[in-house]
Amino acid sequence: MNERVLQKVALRYRAIFLPIEREGLTGHYEPTVPVMAFVARLKENGYSVSEELLHALTKVPTNKLGEITAVINETFRVNLNWMPLVKGWDTPTGETRMDHLITFIANFFGGEEAGLEGITLPCGHFIPDGTFPLERYNGCPYCGTLFGSAGFVYHGQGSKLKELRLFTLEDKKQLFRDLLSSPTPLDATQLDSLKLLLQEFEVPEDIEIPMKETAIVAINSGELGVRSEELGVRLLKTPTDILRYFWYEKTGQVKIIEPKTLVAMAQKSNRHHWLPADKSEQAAAQKRQELKLKYDRKHCRLAATWLNAVPMNAHQAVENMNPKRGMWVRMIHALRLGEYSRKKGFEHLAEILYVFYQQDYTTWAGKLDQAQKENRSEEVLRMLTDRPGMFARCLFSTMLRFGKEKTLAAFQTVTDTMPARLVLSLGNAADGWFDTERIRVARPITGGTHSVQPHPLLQLYNEEERKAMAKAVNDLYAHTMKKRFASQVTSAKTIYIDPRLYEIPVSVGDRSSSIQDTSCALQGTRFPVEGDSVRLFMHWGKGLPAQHLDMDLSCAIAMQNGKTIECAYYNLTAPGAKHSGDIIHIPDQVGAAEYIELSLPELEEAGARYVSFTCNAYSNGALSPNLMVGWMNSAYPMTISNETGVAYDPSCVQHLVRISEANLSKGMVFGVLDVAAREIYWLEMPFMGQTVRDLDLKTMESLLKRLQEKLSIGQLLDLKREAQGLTLVDDKDKADEAYTYEWALDPSSFRLLTS
Ligand SMILES: [Zn+2]
Repeated sequence: MNERVLQKVALRYRAIFLPIEREGLTGHYEPTVPVMAFVARLKENGYSVSEELLHALTKVPTNKLGEITAVINETFRVNLNWMPLVKGWDTPTGETRMDHLITFIANFFGGEEAGLEGITLPCGHFIPDGTFPLERYNGCPYCGTLFGSAGFVYHGQGSKLKELRLFTLEDKKQLFRDLLSSPTPLDATQLDSLKLLLQEFEVPEDIEIPMKETAIVAINSGELGVRSEELGVRLLKTPTDILRYFWYEKTGQVKIIEPKTLVAMAQKSNRHHWLPADKSEQAAAQKRQELKLKYDRKHCRLAATWLNAVPMNAHQAVENMNPKRGMWVRMIHALRLGEYSRKKGFEHLAEILYVFYQQDYTTWAGKLDQAQKENRSEEVLRMLTDRPGMFARCLFSTMLRFGKEKTLAAFQTVTDTMPARLVLSLGNAADGWFDTERIRVARPITGGTHSVQPHPLLQLYNEEERKAMAKAVNDLYAHTMKKRFASQVTSAKTIYIDPRLYEIPVSVGDRSSSIQDTSCALQGTRFPVEGDSVRLFMHWGKGLPAQHLDMDLSCAIAMQNGKTIECAYYNLTAPGAKHSGDIIHIPDQVGAAEYIELSLPELEEAGARYVSFTCNAYSNGALSPNLMVGWMNSAYPMTISNETGVAYDPSCVQHLVRISEANLSKGMVFGVLDVAAREIYWLEMPFMGQTVRDLDLKTMESLLKRLQEKLSIGQLLDLKREAQGLTLVDDKDKADEAYTYEWALDPSSFRLLTS
């Protein structure tokens, strides 16, 4: 058993893993000296321990405590470099564009050799006297190369300790089962935790895995062999599932993104503002090469076996393959399925391929299309009720086409058989969809966002009618959920609902794609600001050799008067914001850091409304994997070193996220500060721009609004309370059913909604 791995996962759930039995923790105990020392180390990093955990710690060997500290230090990167470009950067250096221009000219004419007064730095740049105040820099102010690194961070300045609890092996196994059987898609953190746990535990024989994406990750763990063959036969129920598996193997993405889209993405993220640095064509060619299909015997056999075992008749199977026909043609060839179809035992595969190539089938989609064109509403609605999932997807446009009464009446006949999250997502989307004034934000699976124009048929209806349509969907949704809750048997009389749950939207669509190593907060969670300042940080280049890798931390300050002011590498000081300087070349292995200090009183004074926190890749390509961003906050002052500029203290970290390997986007908004409310929203919005300037503020506000409008977990629980006639109580210990914030973090929580 690899305890480091289990420890990493536990920390995400604000817990420490100890391989002991909970039952043994009774009676009196005395914390030992090493345990007290360990607790003190935790405190420096901003953690306290629960009573139960403290007891458990006294039962484990002392060397284990050291290992746990090591994992925490690694997670917060305390042993890496946190030195920014400028020392004591809360005092601006006063560098100007003119300094850059004069330095450029001086270097052009030969610098020191040409007899100019100044200093030549290790990077080879000549800095003329009277330009940059060199004593203030840890590197070259002209090219952003860091000379050297700092080996320390601050500790213990945080004002809020986060309590850690105990995770036993039993808890771990339960978490593993919960993740596998989650009825909603896993977000990046959950998926990453699942992958780590799959290294340690076998997939249980009796488990149901409702989400295809989860099943694929489970099958893909470990060696391809008999086990994966069996799992695949059991879990991959359609040809699309099988295609999804092979495409995941190829691209690391759990959704099927077509090759042409991936090529276009590679091209776009390697486009550069500066033309000679534009590598978009090479990147596209390379991506095309990467996506070439080539499979060994093992893979071919696996694909043939799985497709042969699909529990569908040949016509159904081919209809399922039809939307991705182009990809299938290539796959069938690369996986030599034709060859297998001639073997004994692969008769079903042979039949499927026969129908696939005959192409003499009429697809359901084709028939529906025809009926729609000819306005045969009865037939369209009847066909849609056969495919509830499809019906849900086109419910709104069908309402516009055939009217809300008729459509919703048909839809209502199938809502009981639908997964709750589908019904939920409709309720969430309706208000925005029927609003023609609103720019809708689409979040394609490839990262990035783009605005979507309202449906053309919306123009046929006036505002009142459109509002009525949205309301009808919401009513239907509330009705369905209530009916579901009412049918559940419960002996509970009282219920406790954590007030924070009214602020957190039910997560159905906006899955985060970054990994949260120190806590799993739900998107939309608001963090209160305690002191007068918020400090943003970004750390990247961990474990990479010294190289040009330009990642940028910036923020956009939206003012009351409608203007936006940016604080970024090209504008190091803005009202209420100071940047620690632009690092472009990172040092060897230890990474580099950038910070922005936000002063709330100054922001208020300047008339700022919102500050959005962003990070971007200025270098070619997407955001660097393992890049870490977050913010710190404390009621106490947080130091900035005058000698080195180091300003990081893990105990002050309120939230941090890490970019995952599967990330394709070039930039990300990772938080929004509401200045007047003194609250920070955690949200994640990818965008494809090279700098913060490419971020469309309208898009941003639209996202915030949508987040606020979404149905909250608290409201959903209210429906349950009403349907089951429960009494609301204020004390969670006195309630028969208690719904706390921690409860909502658990992936299995929403099972109650889908049962
Ligand atoms: Zn330089």
